Amino acid sequence: MSSLSGLICFLRRSLLRLENRIIQVTGIDRHLGPALALQGPALLPLPHNESKQNQQESFLDSIFWMAAPKKRRTIEVNRCRRRNPDRLIPVKTNIVPCPECGHLKLKHVLCGFCYDKVRRETALIRREIQAVEGGPFRAPAVPTVILYQGETPGEADEGKRIVEQKRKRPSWFTLH
Ligand SMILES: [Zn+2]
Repeated sequence: MSSLSGLICFLRRSLLRLENRIIQVTGIDRHLGPALALQGPALLPLPHNESKQNQQESFLDSIFWMAAPKKRRTIEVNRCRRRNPDRLIPVKTNIVPCPECGHLKLKHVLCGFCYDKVRRETALIRREIQAVEGGPFRAPAVPTVILYQGETPGEADEGKRIVEQKRKRPSWFTLH
């Protein structure tokens, strides 16, 4: 009888222990649950070491990475793209010959050749005025007449500033 009561007592104790363990494992009693205790710094990498490793400069840092094509495009595809009519320079239709000199020029733009001709003649006339009057600020406040070789001032030129040139009048420089 004593062995039987001892067996019953042992089974009862075992059942209690099992019940307690089940309560702990299922989380009903959180305070007594099993926990894994580890020393963190011994297993995980330290943040100090990471920062030291990042500070080391790599030659890859100086490279500017760009997207690279994954497939080669055929020459036909490239030519179709390059010679697309939308990409070609449009043909100009506003180029006309200058009515004065015949050089080609844009329709809405002064002829550069004629402009340069006038600019050079103007520089010569200004040089002559500089030699006669001694400066651009001494010009009288009257209209100016430019006379070339072999020309005489007319009646309408009285009272005007007359600048004489020792050259022949250019054909494009009309008197009136
Ligand atoms: Zn011209």
